[in-house]
Amino acid sequence: SKFEMISMKSLIEEVADFLYPSIVDGNINISSRIDPEAIVFGDKNELKQVFLNILMNAIDAVRENKGERNITIHTDINKEIVSISIINNGPPISAETLKLIFEPFYTTKKLGTGIGLYVSKNIIENHNGKISCFSNNEKTMFQIKLPIYKDQE
Ligand code: ADP
Ligand code: MG
Repeated sequence: SKFEMISMKSLIEEVADFLYPSIVDGNINISSRIDPEAIVFGDKNELKQVFLNILMNAIDAVRENKGERNITIHTDINKEIVSISIINNGPPISAETLKLIFEPFYTTKKLGTGIGLYVSKNIIENHNGKISCFSNNEKTMFQIKLPIYKDQE
């Protein structure tokens, strides 16, 4: 794999643009607040795959809602770490399910493969990062933490 400097803002916007037809079709509100200084060193195609997986899962989740369907994406930079949070207001993930979502082939969907989050976790860990999930009745949040790209001095 070839690593390069990657702007999380442009990468995530590219993925969101790609998913725009299903966002419109699903009547979903999406908003993002991504710091242009959120730059990481990584494999562009692999990282795109991660955000594609997580956003597609968020779209599937909010489509279960009768009412509003919201997805928000935001970043935080804390010293050396870029955190990217993808939040949706779909139905919560139970505590038992939460333990299994990163396992290969675990799916709760009729046509699911259960490989999206397994592959995503592997990709993020190969980038020296971490992926986690938090879920309650109000929201489900996937959080990705990656080392910030620092110019050699
Ligand atoms: P798939 O999407 O093919 O089911 P994934 O590995 O992407 O496989 O996800 C595994 C499982 O994790 C899903 O089947 C679902 O049960 C759960 N999951 C993932 N993202 C969300 C989410 N945003 N809200 C609720 N459940 C989720
Ligand atoms: Mg998936």
